[in-house]
Amino acid sequence: MSNSTPYLSPIVFVGNEKAYVDAYNKKPKSEKNGATWDGDDAGLVKVKKVIKDYYLKIQDYTCAYCRQRIEVGHNGAWDTEHIIPKDSYPQFLFEPENLCVSCKDCNGAKTNKEVLRRKGRVKFPREAKDYLFCHPYFHVYTDHVRVVRKAALYLPKTEEGKRLIEICGLLRFVLKFADYDCVDEEISMKLIMLATELQNTSSPMEQMAIMMLANKMLEEKMQGMTVAAMKRYAQD
Ligand SMILES: [Zn+2]
Repeated sequence: MSNSTPYLSPIVFVGNEKAYVDAYNKKPKSEKNGATWDGDDAGLVKVKKVIKDYYLKIQDYTCAYCRQRIEVGHNGAWDTEHIIPKDSYPQFLFEPENLCVSCKDCNGAKTNKEVLRRKGRVKFPREAKDYLFCHPYFHVYTDHVRVVRKAALYLPKTEEGKRLIEICGLLRFVLKFADYDCVDEEISMKLIMLATELQNTSSPMEQMAIMMLANKMLEEKMQGMTVAAMKRYAQD
């Protein structure tokens, strides 16, 4: 995916799906509800399928937030994602530029977290500056986040990138390696990679993020060792 081409283009509803979405959008505010999404009428089921199929294809099975590619036979491994949460903003339930697909882990971390700078918007916000975090449509991902694939490391380049990493829990990838069963070699390899990255960056924001990660890894590693030592002590 090139940096200059937009990552996403919004879905255009046609036919029965357009009629369904139009009917929802025409409802008075009091009748719009995020829970509509969980209904089981045939029209809704079809609209949801059309949405998910469209975004999986256009995103090429890549999560909008962590940008990991997960190609699986069953599309149930993916979540259709409302970028501005549907429970707090049901008026944007079928807004094409509020829709994409994400992996279950990113969606699970993001939940109903606020992504707007100014709450309670009535009209759908279409500008990058309206959002706290790096938005799949309105920001260029690589301008805000640097992904070091080998180290499973997400480095913020901007405040919006930092918020994306926080909101979608992207530190989970590197922290996975810091569990109790990890071998020391893994940790040291990761730390070497972090140290190399640290040397290669001149951005204070990246340097801070790297230091923070390295510290967190070491901390968790030491806690793990303490637990292991206590277990050994208990067995003796
Ligand atoms: Zn993801």
